[in-house]
Amino acid sequence: MSEQKIDNRLWSAKARNLSPYVPGEQPQHDNLCKLNTNENPFPPSPAVAAAIAKLLAEQACELRLYPAPESDDLRSALAGLHNLDSNQVFVGNGSDEVLALIFASFFMKERPILAPDISYSFYPVYAQTFGVELVKIALENDFSIDPDAYRQPCSGIIIANPNAPTGLLLGLDDIRKLADEHSNAVIVIDEAYIDFASTDEGQSVSAISLINEFDNLLVTQTFSKSRSLAGLRVGMAFSNPSLIEALTRMKNSFNSYPLDKLAQAGARASVLDHDYFEQTCQKVIDLRESLTSKLTDLGYQVLPSHANFVFARPQDGNASDVADALREQGIIVRHFDKARISEYLRITIGTAAQHERLIEALTAIHATDATAN
Ligand SMILES: *Cc1c(COP(=O)(O)O)cnc(C)c1O
Repeated sequence: MSEQKIDNRLWSAKARNLSPYVPGEQPQHDNLCKLNTNENPFPPSPAVAAAIAKLLAEQACELRLYPAPESDDLRSALAGLHNLDSNQVFVGNGSDEVLALIFASFFMKERPILAPDISYSFYPVYAQTFGVELVKIALENDFSIDPDAYRQPCSGIIIANPNAPTGLLLGLDDIRKLADEHSNAVIVIDEAYIDFASTDEGQSVSAISLINEFDNLLVTQTFSKSRSLAGLRVGMAFSNPSLIEALTRMKNSFNSYPLDKLAQAGARASVLDHDYFEQTCQKVIDLRESLTSKLTDLGYQVLPSHANFVFARPQDGNASDVADALREQGIIVRHFDKARISEYLRITIGTAAQHERLIEALTAIHATDATAN
C-alpha cells in the first residue's frame, strides 16, 4: 500500500468511511514457514484437479458459456452429503461472500445483531458495510460463550463455532438454547472450522443437525480450510428453504454467477471424495494434538482447540516478541494486538516438518529468554 494520500473526491461517503478487513499476509518468500492464515497444509483431493483438468480438456469451449447460476450439481452433492434437500443449500464465492449476503438478507433491520467480543474480525466490517449495529457480547474469562449473556433484543446473532481465534467449541445444547430463545432473530453459526472438531464417538457437532428443528437457524461452512481449497473460493450455507430463498434473491440482485465452472466442478469432486476428506481432517487433528503437547512442554498455555490452529500463550505472555523473533527466522504466526488476547499467538496447524522447525525455533527463543532473566 502506498503511503501517498489518495484522492477520494469522487468517492461516496460510504466508500470513504469503510474500514476494510485486513487478511493475514501472504508473503512470497522461499522457505517460508507460513502458519498464519489457517490454510490446510495438505493438498486438496487429487479428484479436484482431475475434474478441473477434464473440464478444460473436454469442454474448454464451454467456458464461453455462463456457468450454472445456482450451482445445481454442487448443491445437490452437498445436500447428499448432509441428507438435506438441495433447496436447503446455498453456495457462494467463499463463505465470506455468503456472510455478506447473510448480513444484507437478515441483519439490515432496526435491531442490532449480537456477536462475541472476540471472534472473526470480518463481522464488524460487514456490520459497517451494511449499516448494521453490532453489539459485542463479552466472552467469559475462560473465553467460552455463555448463551445467557445473549438475552437481549436483536435481529440476529452470529457466532463462529469453533470460535476464532480461540478454537473453543460451543455445544449443540447451547446453540439449541440460542435458537429457541430468539425465535424472531436469525442465528448464524459460522462453522469454518467444524470439520476439525473432536467428536465424542462420531457424534455430530455441526449445527446442520439442528436446521430441521429451528426455522431461524443458518449454518455456514467453507471449502477453504478442511478441504484445502482456499484458492478456489467456495463457501456454503445450510438452512430451511425459506432462508435459503432469501439468500438466493439477494445473490441474484448482486451477482448471478458467483461460482465459475471450474470452481463448481472442483468443489463437487472434493465433496464426492469423502475418504480423502476424512483422512486429511484426521491428519490435521493428530498434528494439532501433538503440537499442543509440544507447546505445553515449552511452558505454553494452549486452549483446547477444535480447529486447525492453536491459540497459545507463552509463559511470560510476551507473544508479540515471540512472533517477531519467529518472523526473523521465516516463521509467520498470527498475533492480534487486541485487548484480552494480546498475550496469545494463533498458530495454524502445519506439516510435521513445519512443526519441528517451529518447536526448534521456539526452544531457542525461550532459552535466550531464560538466560536474559
Ligand atoms: C476462514 C474463515 C471464513 C472465510 O472463509 P472463506 O470461505 O475462505 O471466505 C469465515 N469465517 C471464519 C470464522 C473463518 O475463519
